[in-house]
This record gives sequence, structure tokens and C-alpha cells, in this order.
Amino acid sequence: MSSEATTRNIVIIGGGIIGCTTAYYLSRHPQFASSSTKITLIEASKHGIAQGASGKAGGLVAQWAYPKELVKVSFPEHVRLAEEHNGAERWGWRFVACGSWEGRGEDIDEGTGTGVGAGGERKSLEKTFGLDAPTHLAETGLPADLNWIKDELTSAYSPMAPAGATAQVHPYLFSRSMLDLARERGVELVSGKVTAIDIDKTADRRVSGVTYTPCDGGESRKIPATHVVLAAGVWSRQVLPAVPVVGTRAHSITIRPPPSAAPLAAHVLFTEIALPGAHASPEIYARPSNEAYCCGPGDDSSVPDTVDDVEVDEAACESIRAHVASISPVLRAGTVQRRQACFLPVVSTGGGPIVGEAASIAAGLLIATGHTCWGISNAPGTAKAIAELIMDGKISCADLQKLRPARFL
Ligand SMILES: Cc1cc2nc3c(=O)[nH]c(=O)nc-3n(C[C@H](O)[C@H](O)[C@H](O)COP(=O)(O)OP(=O)(O)OC[C@H]3O[C@@H](n4cnc5c(N)ncnc54)[C@H](O)[C@@H]3O)c2cc1C
Repeated sequence: MSSEATTRNIVIIGGGIIGCTTAYYLSRHPQFASSSTKITLIEASKHGIAQGASGKAGGLVAQWAYPKELVKVSFPEHVRLAEEHNGAERWGWRFVACGSWEGRGEDIDEGTGTGVGAGGERKSLEKTFGLDAPTHLAETGLPADLNWIKDELTSAYSPMAPAGATAQVHPYLFSRSMLDLARERGVELVSGKVTAIDIDKTADRRVSGVTYTPCDGGESRKIPATHVVLAAGVWSRQVLPAVPVVGTRAHSITIRPPPSAAPLAAHVLFTEIALPGAHASPEIYARPSNEAYCCGPGDDSSVPDTVDDVEVDEAACESIRAHVASISPVLRAGTVQRRQACFLPVVSTGGGPIVGEAASIAAGLLIATGHTCWGISNAPGTAKAIAELIMDGKISCADLQKLRPARFL
């Protein structure tokens, strides 16, 4: 990709974690201050950024995530970002123990459901796929400080990674902070839905801008661009049909324990709960804000027009609550604060994410999507690579040949 032009008009489509973090890395690139570079991020939700998966994910940052090429850059970048911008205060950054828990649930009514949303077939979120064999470290028994699981119900517990290899962020706060820091350097946020990527077919088939419909209604408008970054998650395909990204919907809830309870110890658990005639496997994340984030399995229901139209199935949320309550008295006594659903972007042909320039479609068109269950973990590496590609003309932080759009489009 040519880096000759020093005047750049960069438009990022999508204010999820990938778009917001890309805005941050572009605005921090050494060439940003000395060049004439304008960056605009455009987000389609009426409610602002990170209303989809990037605001509703668990927030685990793991060295066992995949693909390794991105993890190697992303994990240390997460550590650096947290140190540089006080991530502990700003976005709930901390190292956290992560374990696999097996046991039985108690006091649960029959027919509490599977956690799968109505209208969809069960799908795995595939988060444990990156673990090396043997899958887990040796069984240790329940950690002494793990105060939110009933000991007697436990049949096995194994750490999933050594200390220091798993951390967490609050994904909405991280995305928000990335964009806030980028806006301090002049990045502009536009509220609108991109309907087309404009390509100048007369010259060198280069992007010339985007066309969008403002969220507050009104006529369709254009923003000129020398570079367009498509980071619209599962909606990337709506904007560019050649992008092979589909969605997996998953439900989640957050629970605040009763005020009288001790603070939830810092653990993330991947559970396998045996229930009368059934089985459930919610992921449970204790957060520094003293809430538990709990998510159920994925489903294959169809992706709606915008993030604001994603349907939440209350029965799926209640089912997740009941499963978690069956192993945790303190969370049973707690108050459910959020019941939500979102779509994680999956590359339908396997592999991914897709990261790089889609030169066969247009010069200056970059794609950064299809991060499956690891978009929170892998956002910094993706964003750093895209920023290097635009500002330096090549990616230096990693070898991302395997992820280049030419392999997928
Ligand atoms: C239940 C669940 C738990 C998860 N847990 C983790 C975890 O613990 N760790 C981890 O690393 N990952 C996790 N993930 C995965 C992670 O959430 C995603 O990979 C990541 O959020 C994808 O980010 P994104 O920016 O690509 O997409 P999104 O978050 O979907 O953002 C895309 C944005 O683009 C906007 N947009 C779409 N179309 C347009 C348009 N035409 N014009 C303008 N804007 C548009 C959308 O409104 C949206 O805001 C989880 C996902 C789920 C569902």
C-alpha cells in the first residue's frame, strides 16, 4: 500500500472495539502529528459506540487466544495501554485467575432452559479452542479465595493458564476510553450508517469516500476519504458483500451481589454444570466493579439491520441466571442488572480475523473484522497493524500474511 500521500482522510466504519482502538492507534502514530491526517469514525447506533459485542462481551484478555500472530502483539499492548492510561481505574484492567470448573447445580427448577436464544440453534463461542493440549493445567481443588462458588458442589477445578497469562477489561469502558483518547487528538465521531464505500473507478480504483445516512434522519451525505477502514463487525457484509463474515448471537447478564456480601474474588470460570436431566456451561467473570458478568451459549439467529435491532430473549437470560444461581448462593441472592444479547463476528470460511488492505476491491480499502470470540483480546494488535499499514505503508508489528483480505475475499 502506498504511503506517499501525506494528506490523509481516514474514515473508520464502525465504533466497536476494533474501530475505536484503530482510531486510537492512528492518532498516536508518530506520523500523525507531523502530517495532514484527518480521522473520522462513523457509528450506526443511535445510542453511540460499542452497543454490540464490544460493549457486551466478557472482556477476557488471554495469552491462549488466537490467532497467535495477533495475540503476541495484543497482550503486551494491553499491558502497556493499561499502564500508560491508568486502565485499572479507567476500564477495569486487572490480571485475573481463569479456571475450568465442573460440578453439580442445586435448587434449580426443571425446564429452566438452555440459555440459547429463541429462534436459533445452539453454537459454541469457541473460546477454549486455543488452549494447548493437555487442555488444562493439573487439578488443584477450588482456590481458597474463590468465595462465590459453593465448595460442596465442586467436582473438579483446574487453572486454565498460569498466573499473568489472563487479564480482563470492561469492554465497553475500554472501547469508550480508546475513542475518548483518540478524540483528544482530533478524531471526529459521526453518528450515521454507512450505506456505500465510494470507489473512484476512473483513476486507479481507489476509495474516494463513504456515503451515509445520519442517525437523526435527513438526506444521505458523503465524507471524502483517501483510506476507509471497514470495522463494522457482523454488519461488515452489509457494507461490502464480499466480506465472508456471519454472526453468532449470545445472551449475557450482569449480577450485583447483595451489599452485605463480601466482594467477589477476582476469578473467571468456564463452568460445566450437571443439572437434573440437563447440563449447562455459562462463563462467569467477576469484575473489579463487584459485579458478575455471565454469558450463555451462542445461537445462529439471523443478524438484524442494525445493532439497535438486536432482540433480547428474556427466557435465555433467565436461564443463564438460574444456571449461575445453582452453583453460587451469593449470585442467587444478587440483583440482575443487565439482560442483553449481541452478535460476535465469525469468518464463515474459517480462520480469520481478516486484517489488511483489500487491494483487489480498491486501493485504500482496509478490512478489520471477523474477530470471533477474541476481539477484545486482539483489538490492540489489529489496530496497531492497521495504523502501520495506513501511516507507514506496511505492517511491522507482526506477520499477518495469514489474515490478509486476499485469502478470504
Ligand atoms: C457473549 C460474548 C462474550 C465475549 N467475550 C469475549 C472476551 O471475553 N474476550 C474477547 O477477546 N472477546 C470476547 N467476545 C468477542 C468480542 O466481543 C468481539 O470479537 C468484538 O467485540 C468484535 O468487535 P467489532 O468492533 O469487530 O464489532 P462490534 O462490536 O459488533 O462493532 C461493530 C460496530 O459497527 C457498527 N456498524 C455496523 N454497520 C455500520 C455501518 N453501516 N455504518 C456505521 N457503523 C456500523 C455497529 O453498530 C457496531 O457498533 C465476546 C463476544 C460475545 C458475543
